[in-house]
Amino acid sequence: MTALLEVEDLRVAYGKIEAVKGISFTVDAGQVVTLIGTNGAGKTTTLRTLSGLLKPLGGRILFEGKPLANIPAHKIVSLGIAHSPEGRHIFPRLTITENLLLGAYLRNDKAGIEKDVQRAYDLFPILGERRKQAAGTLSGGEQQMLAMGRALMSQPKLLMLDEPSMGLSPIMMQKIMETIVELKAAGTTILLVEQNAQAALSLADQGHVMEVGKIVLSGAGSDLLHDESVRKAYLGED
Ligand code: ATP
Repeated sequence: MTALLEVEDLRVAYGKIEAVKGISFTVDAGQVVTLIGTNGAGKTTTLRTLSGLLKPLGGRILFEGKPLANIPAHKIVSLGIAHSPEGRHIFPRLTITENLLLGAYLRNDKAGIEKDVQRAYDLFPILGERRKQAAGTLSGGEQQMLAMGRALMSQPKLLMLDEPSMGLSPIMMQKIMETIVELKAAGTTILLVEQNAQAALSLADQGHVMEVGKIVLSGAGSDLLHDESVRKAYLGED
Protein backbone atom coordinates (compact mmCIF):
# COMPACT_ATOMS: atom_id res chain seq x y z
CA MET A 1 0.00 0.00 0.00
CA THR A 2 1.29 3.47 -0.85
CA ALA A 3 1.48 5.87 2.06
CA LEU A 4 -0.85 8.88 1.92
CA LEU A 5 2.15 11.15 2.42
CA GLU A 6 5.79 10.32 1.76
CA VAL A 7 8.53 12.76 2.61
CA GLU A 8 11.96 11.81 1.29
CA ASP A 9 15.18 13.55 2.19
CA LEU A 10 13.40 16.92 2.45
CA ARG A 11 15.62 19.96 2.80
CA VAL A 12 14.38 23.49 3.38
CA ALA A 13 16.42 26.66 3.90
CA TYR A 14 15.82 30.30 4.76
CA GLY A 15 18.57 31.93 2.71
CA LYS A 16 21.74 30.21 3.78
CA ILE A 17 20.28 28.76 6.95
CA GLU A 18 19.17 25.18 6.43
CA ALA A 19 16.25 24.66 8.80
CA VAL A 20 15.34 21.15 7.59
CA LYS A 21 18.34 19.03 6.68
CA GLY A 22 17.15 15.93 4.88
CA ILE A 23 14.23 14.35 6.72
CA SER A 24 12.21 11.32 5.63
CA PHE A 25 8.96 9.98 7.04
CA THR A 26 5.61 8.64 5.87
CA VAL A 27 2.02 9.04 6.99
CA ASP A 28 -0.39 6.22 6.22
CA ALA A 29 -4.11 6.85 5.75
CA GLY A 30 -5.90 6.80 9.09
CA GLN A 31 -2.77 7.33 11.16
CA VAL A 32 -1.83 10.06 13.59
CA VAL A 33 1.85 10.88 13.13
CA THR A 34 3.59 13.39 15.35
CA LEU A 35 6.74 15.45 14.99
CA ILE A 36 8.11 16.49 18.35
CA GLY A 37 11.22 18.44 19.29
CA THR A 38 12.41 21.63 20.90
CA ASN A 39 12.12 25.21 19.60
CA GLY A 40 13.74 25.71 16.24
CA ALA A 41 13.99 22.01 15.39
CA GLY A 42 12.30 22.61 12.02
CA LYS A 43 8.81 21.25 12.70
CA THR A 44 6.87 24.33 11.59
CA THR A 45 9.13 24.70 8.57
CA THR A 46 8.27 21.12 7.59
CA LEU A 47 4.51 21.75 7.77
CA ARG A 48 4.79 25.05 5.91
CA THR A 49 6.69 23.28 3.14
CA LEU A 50 4.10 20.51 2.91
CA SER A 51 1.42 23.24 2.57
CA GLY A 52 3.27 24.86 -0.32
CA LEU A 53 4.11 28.01 1.64
CA LEU A 54 7.86 27.34 1.43
CA LYS A 55 9.81 25.84 -1.42
CA PRO A 56 12.01 22.87 -0.67
CA LEU A 57 15.71 23.03 -1.45
CA GLY A 58 15.78 19.34 -2.13
CA GLY A 59 14.07 16.02 -1.61
CA ARG A 60 10.63 14.77 -2.57
CA ILE A 61 7.12 15.08 -1.21
CA LEU A 62 4.59 12.58 -2.53
CA PHE A 63 0.89 12.86 -1.70
CA GLU A 64 -1.17 9.86 -2.80
CA GLY A 65 1.91 8.83 -4.76
CA LYS A 66 2.13 12.10 -6.73
CA PRO A 67 4.86 14.73 -6.33
CA LEU A 68 3.83 18.00 -4.68
CA ALA A 69 6.80 20.04 -5.88
CA ASN A 70 5.93 23.47 -7.30
CA ILE A 71 2.22 23.16 -6.60
CA PRO A 72 0.87 26.44 -5.14
CA ALA A 73 -0.64 26.46 -1.67
CA HIS A 74 -4.28 26.84 -2.76
CA LYS A 75 -3.97 23.83 -5.10
CA ILE A 76 -2.50 21.82 -2.27
CA VAL A 77 -5.64 22.53 -0.24
CA SER A 78 -7.73 21.28 -3.14
CA LEU A 79 -5.67 18.08 -3.26
CA GLY A 80 -6.74 17.40 0.31
CA ILE A 81 -4.14 18.82 2.68
CA ALA A 82 -5.35 21.28 5.34
CA HIS A 83 -3.12 23.20 7.72
CA SER A 84 -4.12 24.62 11.09
CA PRO A 85 -1.14 26.91 11.64
CA GLU A 86 0.76 27.85 14.75
CA GLY A 87 -0.63 31.05 16.23
CA ARG A 88 -4.09 30.20 14.87
CA HIS A 89 -4.57 32.95 12.25
CA ILE A 90 -8.31 33.27 12.58
CA PHE A 91 -10.05 36.40 11.30
CA PRO A 92 -10.94 38.31 14.48
CA ARG A 93 -13.60 40.64 13.01
CA LEU A 94 -15.48 37.91 11.18
CA THR A 95 -17.97 35.79 13.07
CA ILE A 96 -17.22 32.24 14.08
CA THR A 97 -19.50 30.90 11.35
CA GLU A 98 -17.85 33.13 8.74
CA ASN A 99 -14.43 31.87 9.81
CA LEU A 100 -15.61 28.28 9.42
CA LEU A 101 -17.09 28.98 5.99
CA LEU A 102 -13.77 30.40 4.82
CA GLY A 103 -12.32 26.95 5.34
CA ALA A 104 -14.79 25.67 2.73
CA TYR A 105 -13.96 28.26 0.09
CA LEU A 106 -13.08 25.62 -2.51
CA ARG A 107 -16.35 23.74 -2.06
CA ASN A 108 -19.75 24.49 -3.53
CA ASP A 109 -21.86 21.67 -2.06
CA LYS A 110 -24.08 23.86 0.11
CA ALA A 111 -25.74 21.04 2.01
CA GLY A 112 -22.42 19.33 2.71
CA ILE A 113 -20.90 22.59 3.91
CA GLU A 114 -23.82 23.18 6.30
CA LYS A 115 -23.45 19.66 7.62
CA ASP A 116 -19.75 20.22 8.26
CA VAL A 117 -20.40 23.55 10.02
CA GLN A 118 -22.77 21.63 12.28
CA ARG A 119 -20.10 18.99 12.79
CA ALA A 120 -17.67 21.70 13.95
CA TYR A 121 -20.32 22.85 16.46
CA ASP A 122 -20.78 19.27 17.61
CA LEU A 123 -17.04 18.83 18.07
CA PHE A 124 -16.68 22.18 19.84
CA PRO A 125 -20.06 23.25 21.31
CA ILE A 126 -18.70 26.65 22.39
CA LEU A 127 -18.32 27.55 18.70
CA GLY A 128 -21.98 26.81 18.11
CA GLU A 129 -23.10 28.79 21.15
CA ARG A 130 -21.17 31.83 19.98
CA ARG A 131 -21.52 31.37 16.24
CA LYS A 132 -22.66 34.95 15.56
CA GLN A 133 -19.95 36.63 17.61
CA ALA A 134 -16.71 38.05 16.27
CA ALA A 135 -14.03 35.37 16.48
CA GLY A 136 -11.68 37.85 18.17
CA THR A 137 -13.83 37.61 21.31
CA LEU A 138 -12.91 33.92 21.77
CA SER A 139 -10.26 32.87 24.26
CA GLY A 140 -6.96 31.52 22.95
CA GLY A 141 -8.09 27.93 23.40
CA GLU A 142 -11.40 28.59 21.72
CA GLN A 143 -9.60 30.25 18.80
CA GLN A 144 -7.51 27.11 18.52
CA MET A 145 -10.71 25.09 18.28
CA LEU A 146 -11.96 27.43 15.57
CA ALA A 147 -8.70 27.05 13.62
CA MET A 148 -9.07 23.26 13.78
CA GLY A 149 -12.73 23.46 12.83
CA ARG A 150 -11.89 25.70 9.89
CA ALA A 151 -9.16 23.33 8.65
CA LEU A 152 -11.66 20.47 8.76
CA MET A 153 -14.10 22.43 6.57
CA SER A 154 -12.03 21.61 3.47
CA GLN A 155 -12.71 17.90 4.16
CA PRO A 156 -8.99 17.17 4.16
CA LYS A 157 -7.47 13.77 3.52
CA LEU A 158 -4.58 14.98 5.66
CA LEU A 159 -5.05 17.42 8.54
CA MET A 160 -1.86 19.12 9.71
CA LEU A 161 -1.98 20.68 13.16
CA ASP A 162 0.84 22.95 14.31
CA GLU A 163 1.11 23.14 18.09
CA PRO A 164 -2.61 22.92 18.82
CA SER A 165 -1.93 22.92 22.57
CA MET A 166 0.26 26.02 22.59
CA GLY A 167 -0.64 28.44 25.36
CA LEU A 168 -3.68 26.48 26.46
CA SER A 169 -4.84 25.68 29.97
CA PRO A 170 -4.59 21.99 30.93
CA ILE A 171 -8.38 21.62 30.53
CA MET A 172 -8.40 23.16 27.06
CA MET A 173 -5.39 21.10 26.09
CA GLN A 174 -7.17 17.96 27.22
CA LYS A 175 -10.17 18.92 25.11
CA ILE A 176 -8.02 19.48 22.01
CA MET A 177 -6.26 16.14 22.51
CA GLU A 178 -9.59 14.36 22.98
CA THR A 179 -10.80 15.93 19.74
CA ILE A 180 -7.76 14.61 17.91
CA VAL A 181 -8.61 11.12 19.19
CA GLU A 182 -12.22 11.58 18.02
CA LEU A 183 -11.10 12.76 14.59
CA LYS A 184 -8.80 9.78 14.25
CA ALA A 185 -11.63 7.45 15.24
CA ALA A 186 -13.70 9.04 12.45
CA GLY A 187 -10.92 8.17 9.99
CA THR A 188 -9.06 11.50 9.69
CA THR A 189 -5.35 11.25 8.99
CA ILE A 190 -3.39 13.72 11.10
CA LEU A 191 0.15 15.09 11.11
CA LEU A 192 0.61 16.71 14.49
CA VAL A 193 3.45 19.02 15.48
CA GLU A 194 3.75 19.43 19.22
CA GLN A 195 6.11 20.59 21.91
CA ASN A 196 3.98 18.77 24.42
CA ALA A 197 5.64 15.43 23.77
CA GLN A 198 3.72 13.52 26.42
CA ALA A 199 0.31 14.38 25.00
CA ALA A 200 1.36 13.99 21.37
CA LEU A 201 3.10 10.63 21.78
CA SER A 202 0.24 9.25 23.86
CA LEU A 203 -2.13 9.47 20.92
CA ALA A 204 0.21 9.05 17.94
CA ASP A 205 0.68 5.83 15.97
CA GLN A 206 4.12 7.01 14.90
CA GLY A 207 6.40 9.68 16.30
CA HIS A 208 9.54 11.37 15.05
CA VAL A 209 11.88 13.37 17.23
CA MET A 210 13.43 16.36 15.47
CA GLU A 211 16.58 18.15 16.54
CA VAL A 212 18.18 21.01 14.60
CA GLY A 213 16.65 20.08 11.28
CA LYS A 214 17.02 16.31 11.48
CA ILE A 215 14.97 13.37 12.63
CA VAL A 216 17.06 11.78 15.35
CA LEU A 217 14.65 9.10 16.55
CA SER A 218 11.49 7.47 15.16
CA GLY A 219 9.15 4.85 16.48
CA ALA A 220 5.66 3.94 17.57
CA GLY A 221 4.23 6.70 19.80
CA SER A 222 3.94 4.37 22.78
CA ASP A 223 7.54 3.14 22.35
CA LEU A 224 8.93 6.68 22.21
CA LEU A 225 6.87 7.59 25.24
CA HIS A 226 8.76 4.94 27.17
CA ASP A 227 12.16 5.59 25.58
CA GLU A 228 14.65 6.69 28.18
CA SER A 229 16.35 9.35 26.05
CA VAL A 230 12.98 10.84 25.04
CA ARG A 231 11.84 10.88 28.64
CA LYS A 232 15.00 12.69 29.71
CA ALA A 233 15.07 15.21 26.88
CA TYR A 234 11.38 15.92 26.35
CA LEU A 235 9.42 14.76 29.32
CA GLY A 236 11.53 16.48 31.93
CA GLU A 237 12.76 13.35 33.73
CA ASP A 238 16.21 13.05 35.33
P1 ATP B 1 9.02 26.16 17.19
O1 ATP B 1 8.33 25.12 17.97
O2 ATP B 1 9.80 27.12 18.03
O3 ATP B 1 8.17 26.84 16.15
P2 ATP B 1 10.09 24.53 15.10
O4 ATP B 1 10.62 23.19 15.34
O5 ATP B 1 8.74 24.64 14.51
O6 ATP B 1 10.18 25.37 16.41
P3 ATP B 1 10.94 26.15 12.92
O7 ATP B 1 9.98 27.26 13.23
O8 ATP B 1 10.67 25.29 11.77
O9 ATP B 1 11.15 25.26 14.18
O10 ATP B 1 12.40 26.79 12.76
C1 ATP B 1 13.52 26.07 12.32
C2 ATP B 1 14.72 27.00 12.18
O11 ATP B 1 14.50 27.90 11.10
C3 ATP B 1 15.00 27.86 13.39
O12 ATP B 1 16.38 27.97 13.55
C4 ATP B 1 14.39 29.20 13.03
O13 ATP B 1 15.05 30.25 13.68
C5 ATP B 1 14.62 29.24 11.54
N1 ATP B 1 13.59 30.05 10.88
C6 ATP B 1 12.25 29.86 10.96
N2 ATP B 1 11.59 30.76 10.20
C7 ATP B 1 12.54 31.54 9.63
C8 ATP B 1 12.51 32.65 8.74
N3 ATP B 1 11.36 33.13 8.27
N4 ATP B 1 13.71 33.19 8.38
C9 ATP B 1 14.87 32.70 8.85
N5 ATP B 1 14.98 31.65 9.68
C10 ATP B 1 13.83 31.08 10.08
